[in-house]
Parts: sequence; C-alpha cells; structure tokens
Amino acid sequence: MLHQLIYRSRAAAALLAHGLERLAAEAGRRNRALGISGLLVCDGDYFLQVLEGPRSAVLTLYDAIVADPRHSAVVLIRSEPVARRQFQGWRFLVAPPQSQGRRWPPRLSRSGSLVDEGEDRVAAIIDSFLCGDWRDPAGAPSAGPPPGPARARGPAQLGLPHGLHGLPALPEAPPVRFAMQPIVEPHLGRISSVELLLRGPDGEAPAALLRRLSRAERYTQDLAWKELAFAQIARTAFTGKVAINLLPGALMRDPLAAERLARMARSHGIEPQRVIVEITEEEAISQPERFYRNVAELKAAGFLTAIDDFGAGHAGLSLLTNFQPDKVKIDRQLVHDIQRSGVRQAIVRAVLDCCRRLGITVVAEGIEQHEEYAWLFAAGVRRFQGFYFARPALEAVPEIRWPAALEEAVEARVA
Ligand code: C2E
Ligand code: MN
Ligand code: MN
Repeated sequence: MLHQLIYRSRAAAALLAHGLERLAAEAGRRNRALGISGLLVCDGDYFLQVLEGPRSAVLTLYDAIVADPRHSAVVLIRSEPVARRQFQGWRFLVAPPQSQGRRWPPRLSRSGSLVDEGEDRVAAIIDSFLCGDWRDPAGAPSAGPPPGPARARGPAQLGLPHGLHGLPALPEAPPVRFAMQPIVEPHLGRISSVELLLRGPDGEAPAALLRRLSRAERYTQDLAWKELAFAQIARTAFTGKVAINLLPGALMRDPLAAERLARMARSHGIEPQRVIVEITEEEAISQPERFYRNVAELKAAGFLTAIDDFGAGHAGLSLLTNFQPDKVKIDRQLVHDIQRSGVRQAIVRAVLDCCRRLGITVVAEGIEQHEEYAWLFAAGVRRFQGFYFARPALEAVPEIRWPAALEEAVEARVA
C-alpha cells in the first residue's frame, strides 16, 4: 500500500554545517533507492519533509530519522495511506530567507495536483510551514489578512434538472432522489463543491427515509443509492467536486465498500478524486478502530474525506488525534448567531487554527444570515454552505445569491 508521511524537524548545527545541498543530494539518493518520492523544504532552521512510497519503506525511514541525533524536535504531522503519489521524484526547496509567506513557492507540482491549495492538504501543510506555523514555540506571526473579497458576481448557471426516468430501479426500495446544495467561495464568486442530499420519492428528509429501513438495509441502501447520486451529477453540467454523505456502517459491513464506491463513481465518469465522502462527527466516534480503517480504505481508493457536523458531537478537536480528514464542516449550531456569541467565537477560532496547521480545509455550514458569514469570513473561513447562499434544490444546482459589499459589512461589524 502506498503511504504518505509528513514531518517537521529542526536541523541540528552538525546537519547544517554539512551543507544543505549535500544533505539534499544524499537524501535524494537514499530515497530513490527506497522507492520514496517527496519533498524536503528547509527554511534555514526547520525542515519539512514529505515522504511517499511503499508503507514499510516510509515508516522504516521515518523511524531512522527520529532516532538520528542530527534531527531534533521531530514532529509527525501526517501519516496515512494515499491512492497515488503527488511527487514524481524527489524535490528539495530552500525557502528564501525573510520571505516566508503565502505566495512561496507558487507551484510545487508538475502534475498540477498541488495547485488547488484549498483542496490539497499537502500544499496547505507546506503553506502553513512556510508561514511559520510549525516553528517552536507557538505564537509565530501569521501572514497578514488575505486580500479583500471580490465584488459580487453573476450566478453560475450550472445544473440542468432532469427527471430520473430511464434509470435502473433498485431492488425492493423506492427510488430516491438527491437535492443539491453548493458549497461556495464567495470571495472568488465560485462553487467549490456541490453536496448531494438524500430525498425520498415524496421529498422526504434523509432521516425519515433511512428510518423506514432495517439496520442492515440502511447500510446497503445508503451505499447503493450513491449510484443514483453519481448518475444525477453526471447528468448536470457541473464538473467540480461532489460531496456525498455516507453512514460509516455502510463501509464497515462491506470490506470492499470503498472499492465498490470508486467503481460506481467511475462508471458515471466521476473520478474518486472529485468525490468528498462526508461522515458525521457523531458516527465517527462510536466505533473508532473500524472507523479509522474504513477511512484509510476510502483514502487509498482516492476519495477525499470530510467530518460533517463538527462541533455537534462530543469528540470535538480530539477526533482529529487519530484521523485527519481533508475537510472539516463546522456544524450549524456553532455557526448560528456567531456574531453574538463569545463562546462560539472562541471555539471556532480554535478549530480554524488547528485546521490551518494540519492543512484541513474548513467549511462553515448552515449560514443563514449575512452577519454570520461576515464574522466567519473575517476570522478566515473561505468556504460556506447555507440557505443564505442557496437552499438545496431537487436534482439541480440552484442559483446562488452572492453577497455584495462584503468589505463594508466586515469593517462595520467585526473589529
Ligand atoms: P448534512 O450533511 O449536515 O447536510 C446539511 C443539512 O442542513 C441538509 O439537511 C440541508 O438541507 C440543511 N441546511 C443547509 N443549509 C442550511 C441552513 O442554512 N439552515 C438550516 N437550518 N439548514 C440548512 P437535510 O437534507 O435534511 O439532511 C440532513 C442530514 O441527513 C444531512 O446533514 C446528512 O447528515 C444526512 N444525509 C443526507 N443525505 C444523506 C445520504 O445520502 N446518506 C446518509 N447516510 N445521510 C444523508
Ligand atoms: Mn453533509
Ligand atoms: Mn452537516
């Protein structure tokens, strides 16, 4: 199995005296021989290294690095299975002194896989490292405020509603449909992904629909219904990322579930890399061991993962100890009236800080008011979902309401 590991370390004086170039050349030779690709970034003091390759080779090398007295303060940032390599060979980069900032290096990958920084945890972790987030002790200055939001733009006309006529019916279950709700980046005037929300034949909500089934049926159907979700996406003109919800039980019962899901998606021309699988915080904590294994299988199959309703359950940030998703979706209970609640503000700021360092993209869900959006934007959130922007639409990507004059709102309401 292909594995990726990211760590940070501090270069001991002996290591630096050896010469960075020589050091990098040696590391490159060693890694090539082990079938390991990746990247070494040095800011003159700290190193960040990405290692990817056969699991045993990567883990053995990491153990050796930890034991090597020339590396001090080794901190493991990420270690998990991946579907494919992000680096073709071995790269070495020295960050220009005094220029640690968001714009360097602008492009890291030949394959282009690191270009969409918002979706790519590796690029985001490197970015965070270059901003000084991973220096000791904590409290390094962060980059200045991001550029102001773009002016409102016209809505993106995307989906075309179609009926489900002609689709093969699923055995012994009513045909279901999916409502679509976009996750937007308002400062770019763009849709970052579309979430598919289960609906019964009469428009029933997901809970009501799932309740009608026995436990076992619920899991098999939840997985099988995703075929309809992919088919529906394939019928629209939408080519961006797609988020689906899945009960972890659907994965746990079937050891081939992740593979099956990947095959389903591909049969509709959708690569797993385009699909974000959302699992709620509540469900993630009831059977942790099996859950982590299933998530690893999803990642190995190439899917992106998200923790849904973050902050609504009982695990909170400790959930990230054993599993780091690509995305965290902040629950709407935390979002509601955030401009008026110091407690919710404190919690959300902690989540944002943690996720930035780990390269996890944050989405705020359930935005209903402009004030909620304005506060969250000022705090650093860039992805939003909620009735304020668009209500879910049955079998279509709805039109989006792009907020205008955000800057004034931010200035007026958030000091
Ligand atoms: P979720 O994944 O957190 O999806 C967002 C839910 O919040 C949706 O409810 C959506 O309609 C609602 N929502 C979005 N924006 C706002 C807002 O601004 N204010 C308020 N009050 N609500 C908003 P929905 O469609 O009823 O779905 C409920 C839950 O059912 C979903 O929550 C998800 O956990 C689950 N679900 C949806 N589709 C599936 C599925 O295919 N399989 C499984 N297992 N669960 C699903
Ligand atoms: Mn969801
Ligand atoms: Mn949610």
